[in-house]
Amino acid sequence: MAHFRVFFSCFIMWAACFTTQASAVVNIGQDAVQLTDFKIEYFIDDLQSLDYSSVRQQAFQDTFNSTSLGTQAKVTWYRITLHNSTAQEQALFLHLPKAYHMRTLDIVEERADKLIDHVLIDLNHASDHPLMYSGAVIYPFTLTGAQTTTLYVRSHVYSHQWFAVEVYDDEHSRKALVGGHLDIALLVGMMLALMFYNGLLYFATSKKENILYSLYLISGLVWIALSYGLISKVFNTYGDHVFILNLSVFTMPIFLLLFMMAIFETRTLYPKEHRALQVILGLLTVSLLYGLFDISGALKPSSSLAALMMIVTFSVSISLYRKKDPLVTFFLIGHTFFIVFNGFAVMYYMGLVQPNYINSHGVGIGIVLEALTLAFIISYRIKVLEDIRSKQDELKRQASTDPLTQLYNRRYFMAESRYMVEKAQKDATSLSVITLDIDHFKAVNDNHGHSAGDLVLVAVSAVFQRYSRDADLIARFGGEEFVILLPSAGHAEALECAERIRLGVEQHSIKLSDELTLRITVSLGVAEVDMKQPEPIDSAIDQADKALYQAKTLGRNRVCAAETYKNNSIV
Ligand code: GH3
Ligand code: MG
Ligand code: MG
Repeated sequence: MAHFRVFFSCFIMWAACFTTQASAVVNIGQDAVQLTDFKIEYFIDDLQSLDYSSVRQQAFQDTFNSTSLGTQAKVTWYRITLHNSTAQEQALFLHLPKAYHMRTLDIVEERADKLIDHVLIDLNHASDHPLMYSGAVIYPFTLTGAQTTTLYVRSHVYSHQWFAVEVYDDEHSRKALVGGHLDIALLVGMMLALMFYNGLLYFATSKKENILYSLYLISGLVWIALSYGLISKVFNTYGDHVFILNLSVFTMPIFLLLFMMAIFETRTLYPKEHRALQVILGLLTVSLLYGLFDISGALKPSSSLAALMMIVTFSVSISLYRKKDPLVTFFLIGHTFFIVFNGFAVMYYMGLVQPNYINSHGVGIGIVLEALTLAFIISYRIKVLEDIRSKQDELKRQASTDPLTQLYNRRYFMAESRYMVEKAQKDATSLSVITLDIDHFKAVNDNHGHSAGDLVLVAVSAVFQRYSRDADLIARFGGEEFVILLPSAGHAEALECAERIRLGVEQHSIKLSDELTLRITVSLGVAEVDMKQPEPIDSAIDQADKALYQAKTLGRNRVCAAETYKNNSIV
């Protein structure tokens, strides 16, 4: 085993020697030229002031044609050596697809140790530059048969050094410039759709989490469109005024934190977690303000700040999870996507890993996956709020109705009647009251049982509803006594209505079972509400009750009016 370990270490050392000593010369053969995966060399100019003649003396290090070196490599020289191993002349194109994010760019061409061309592109004035093509720099050069050329590219960036170079023949150069950015355009399109949807939701619901989420998406899509070159490509614009859009790197987490505070109501429900979020929000706001004056400086600690923010938001989510917040599970899933993919991206930007599709698109993928889960949370929250509201409505309904007959109860009747009196006074209309009591109801209970009595109560209530108007307020006051309040009805109309109900009940046969149907009657008292009374409803009910008593004593199944009762005459 020990032997194997020694052998293995030797193999690794040998392999390492082999790779570092491998020549970075790229051969151009007979085949179509489409070089997207090859080795180049780099040298970091810490002084940021060396020129080509001194840089070419320096020791370069190997890397791949797509590389990322972090924030400490602001000025980096790349060396690409190409050899035409055929006898024919080759017209080639050097593509620099990440040129859009640079401050300045130099391309120096050298043959047989002699400088033959030097192009300098200042990205602040690059919109009309002949080598600039929608965000990329395309440098054409020709290699005659068996010729070798060395290209030096000096990349001076604003903050992070990420670089890519590809070499194509004419046909593949055109192809490479077409199809690009389709995936990023798709990501941006999805985010735009979510953004509009949530903007509309905000106007519909006025919930601030919708607008915060929209703002988060705007920041996210600006950042994605910016860092993947879509803004430069679409608007053909580069340099300082585009670079300032990197402020979205701060606004994005700021809106995410505000969104978290709103959706979890941390201020009221989780004050401890709220303070943690406030601290990181403060740091980000300071960075944002600082970035307004010096965006390169503000971006320097952005990776550490992003890491800190992820730790805090993740810890807060875990804490809410332990406190059993109903929404946090989905947030945790979405945020885990965000953290994992952004973690890949941070490692890529810091130059800690080899670039690949996932880590170089990590932020975009992370944001979109999180955005989709957050969209789900928003709709889920609407459902939760809707459930709460319908539960509250149900409780309200239960508190205001009688469970047996589903008519309003006395409490609701008294509260509602107050508004109806006010309205009648304002509109100068009349208001009347009918009181109703089932005749010989005790006998129903005694002869057919209590549940048969209940059936009668339900059936009679349905008849009351059928023969009264929608605007009338019908309540079960207790036992087998009912009250109806009739808006816009004077004494005469109320009497008519009472008579209609009396007749309706009398003619209605109540089916208790297949064998048994019952006929029932009611006695009714009618009174018009006297608005001049201190308690108009109470006194009207009192008057109607007296009339009802009169109806009972006169033999039941009849309507008596308070007015006629007062006058000692009977209807
Ligand atoms: P009257 O014609 O004079 O009104 O005679 P009555 O038998 O209807 O008189 P009374 O008001 O004394 O009887 C009311 C009865 O109603 C007594 C009570 O047992 C019954 N009752 C009250 N609430 C309910 C109920 O919810 N269900 C049933 N089944 N019976 C009820
Ligand atoms: Mg009674
Ligand atoms: Mg009765």
